[in-house]
Amino acid sequence: MTVHVIGAGVAGLAAALTLARSGRRVVVHEASPGAGGRARALPDGTDNGTHALLGANRAALAFLRDIGALEGWVEPEPAGLPVLDLANHAARRVALAPLGWLRPAMRPAGMDAGGFLALMRLALPGRDRSVEQAFARHPVLLRALVEPLTVAALNTPVAEASASLLGLVLRRLGAPGAARLLVARRGLGPDLVAPALATIGAHGGAMRFGSRLRGLVRADGRVAALDFGETAQRLAADDQVVLALPPWEALRLLPDIPAPTTHAPILNVHFARAEEGDVRFIGLLGGLGQWVLVRPSGVSVTVSAADDAVSLSDAEAAERIWPEVLAAAMAFRLPGEWPIRAPAARAVREKRATPRHAVGPRPAPPRRPLANLALAGDWTFPALPATIDAAVQSGEAAALALLHPGPRA
Ligand SMILES: Cc1cc2nc3c(=O)[nH]c(=O)nc-3n(C[C@H](O)[C@H](O)[C@H](O)COP(=O)(O)OP(=O)(O)OC[C@H]3O[C@@H](n4cnc5c(N)ncnc54)[C@H](O)[C@@H]3O)c2cc1C
Repeated sequence: MTVHVIGAGVAGLAAALTLARSGRRVVVHEASPGAGGRARALPDGTDNGTHALLGANRAALAFLRDIGALEGWVEPEPAGLPVLDLANHAARRVALAPLGWLRPAMRPAGMDAGGFLALMRLALPGRDRSVEQAFARHPVLLRALVEPLTVAALNTPVAEASASLLGLVLRRLGAPGAARLLVARRGLGPDLVAPALATIGAHGGAMRFGSRLRGLVRADGRVAALDFGETAQRLAADDQVVLALPPWEALRLLPDIPAPTTHAPILNVHFARAEEGDVRFIGLLGGLGQWVLVRPSGVSVTVSAADDAVSLSDAEAAERIWPEVLAAAMAFRLPGEWPIRAPAARAVREKRATPRHAVGPRPAPPRRPLANLALAGDWTFPALPATIDAAVQSGEAAALALLHPGPRA
């Protein structure tokens, strides 16, 4: 009995680990030459894009603990998030958790009683609307806190983003420790992907890279064979499949399932400024860059919901963003050398980084659409934004659906 996991992104890795630990024979088939999917290291070791986790991401953190990688994730700003407003050069530290806003020094601009109530109202059930509509009467708070949070958590512009999904994110930030922000100290390769592969391997799981699933051969409501192009894998009666693919690939293979069809890009610009020192994470308002991550290996700047920015050339993006980085370095007195001219930079564009989290119901695919096939992937948990946490939860749920198959759901 073999379980074939298709896709070695976080969802596929989480599914493979759960299955292998339960004693199943697991083979992971990945189209690309490496694992990690949308959370991967590029061949030169750079992350495709900055990935941050929150204390609220319990499934993701438990997964990191299971693979022995949790210590690699550090909290760069335990005293509150440094935020620089490029419009007026106001530099402040802002709490991410509602309780932190009780301290005036940690409140974002515009956080008055009305703004606070508007945030609390997001958590109440009601008709969904856009985040922009929900904060139409609180433009200062929208710009200073709600828009950066929306774009970071939902990767969707506020005019489009679902206020009720943002409310869910905020509710999760209310628990103790939930708003702690963590990043990989060295990078996604050493701090996520390599330890996951090692742990799956230690439990007997096998990896096949460069192995792209071209089609599913179906018979009698189950998968009878996997078509890998030159080779076809006929399945035994008790073999099973986890399809841990991005939505567009899942839809190609299973055209009838509900799945998101619109996506939003993320642009990351990585500057070659290598210098020992603490990891830092700074928010920017009013510029092109949104988050600056400073690590010993380099400086990375994120632009989420990057519909416009994604078409900038590498040079244009670097030239616009580096002065913003310099302003942040000066405002928060970051140690080390900060050259006036932009260091060598490369831009990484993930055109379909996540589904768009727009107003309205999200597609809710069944976990086990075929008797011996379960779906995983960040988009298969419509109650959560598509993140690492959702990917881990989906992988584990898919594994459990095959380990303990009840009625199909
Ligand atoms: C730039 C960027 C920044 C992000 N920032 C954050 C963040 O800060 N915090 C956070 O929590 N999340 C973040 N995310 C989202 C997070 O990366 C994703 O939610 C998560 O990685 C999705 O994992 P997945 O396994 O569901 O899908 P994927 O990562 O897409 O994995 C699918 C895998 O399947 C493979 N594949 C595709 N087709 C086939 C086929 N036919 N046969 C075999 N293999 C195939 C792909 O190569 C891929 O490896 C970010 C995403 C991006 C792109």
